[in-house]
Amino acid sequence: MTRSNLIKPILDQVYPVIDYGKGVYLFDKEGKKYLDGASGAVTANIGHGVPEIIEAMNEQAKKISFVYRSQFTSEAAEQLAEKIAALLPGQLNWCFFVNSGSEATETAMKMAIQYWQEKGIHTKKKVLSRWVSYHGITMGALSMSGHSSRRARFVPLLEDFPVIHPPYCYRCPYNLKAPSCSFLCAKELETVIQRIGPEHIAAFIAEPIIGAAGGAISPPEGYFQIIRQICDKYEILFIADEVMTGSGRTGRMLTCEHWGVIPDIVTLGKGLGAGYAPIAVAVASEKVMEPILNGSKSIMSGHTLSANPQSCAISLAVLEYLEKNKIMRQVEEKGNYLKQQLEEMKDSFSFIGDVRGKGLLLGIEFVEDQHTKKPFPREAFVTQKMVELAKEIGLIVYPSGSGIDGVNGDSIIISPPLTINEQELMELIQLIKDTFSAFSKSMNQSGKAGDYE
Ligand code: PMP
Repeated sequence: MTRSNLIKPILDQVYPVIDYGKGVYLFDKEGKKYLDGASGAVTANIGHGVPEIIEAMNEQAKKISFVYRSQFTSEAAEQLAEKIAALLPGQLNWCFFVNSGSEATETAMKMAIQYWQEKGIHTKKKVLSRWVSYHGITMGALSMSGHSSRRARFVPLLEDFPVIHPPYCYRCPYNLKAPSCSFLCAKELETVIQRIGPEHIAAFIAEPIIGAAGGAISPPEGYFQIIRQICDKYEILFIADEVMTGSGRTGRMLTCEHWGVIPDIVTLGKGLGAGYAPIAVAVASEKVMEPILNGSKSIMSGHTLSANPQSCAISLAVLEYLEKNKIMRQVEEKGNYLKQQLEEMKDSFSFIGDVRGKGLLLGIEFVEDQHTKKPFPREAFVTQKMVELAKEIGLIVYPSGSGIDGVNGDSIIISPPLTINEQELMELIQLIKDTFSAFSKSMNQSGKAGDYE
């Protein structure tokens, strides 16, 4: 029995022990090979066991692995901050390094509140967000998340921040289609701001593509431009949570760049360390930092291991690897091909309801009926079943958005390492088909939709 991580599935079952990884593959102690079709949890962007990263890790370890960040900085942290600022659009120049995505969004929230306080405005404290969103597991991050199942136990302890509908076009809450819908879900932001009063709102936070809670729900063209306009109109900071979508996942450093939208604060995580180091960052723009630099001069946040030189050196090596091998440039082409292949699978597998996403962050929503979009019953645990079948076959997929916050359906994310080559992409497609065939078979054997072996 593995007890390294006290989460329910691990207490219930014995997990395979991973021995090592190479490129897009993982190998367990029994010698079984898995194609990492999810980059772990959308993290292993450049694949496993990359020699350049291991070398950077060793070189930094020979120099210094830890400095006390309240009194010192390190070359690695300074160089990484410069690299991130150079790669990001606009004037997103000020990096605050932390160890996880949750800490990054929590820091972003604190930065936003502090920004207004330094300007002498002490009422702007709420951070608006959306249903079907996930910004992390710590209490502040959960307060901003519209992920009801993760929030449920802690609701009395969380801030009751308002939420709006997400741009979930497959099941539009208004029963309309973009762009003729006039982006009513984006305009809900304005309605809520007017109801609460902009004087109470510090920021609005959103994932450019909804990941963990929604299975890669991506907005229609035009949505984020409207969000940006509304934030500007009411003087509310826009925080883009790019923990999952950033660091090249959709072919740009930020997914927001596809729409020409520049956030005031952005968070990066997951792919930033690509699984080689626990590192994330909240990056503030010059606009946000100006009153802080003229005021108390420091961000009221921080962890012992913030800006850890070892993690920073690894992250720098990851970003340099992405640049040197021109990896981001190939993401859209690979993603478009994979998406088209998944779309075509709809004809053979009637339980594929929606295929969505951008770049190499693609989602598939499963339904009992393609025409009515009727979801499978929750008790069928379709997402879990898909993940398990895939694993048996030797494929890792990311479970997301099953039955939460009105998504009321099952979905998985397909997000292989950005470095996946053509042959591996073909293998991934075949493994996905094999998983779906196995699912069809188990459905046919039970004779009833929603009742599986
Ligand atoms: N924000 C987003 C968009 C995420 O996808 C996640 C993790 N799934 C987080 C924040 C939290 O990151 P972490 O798990 O590293 O705390």
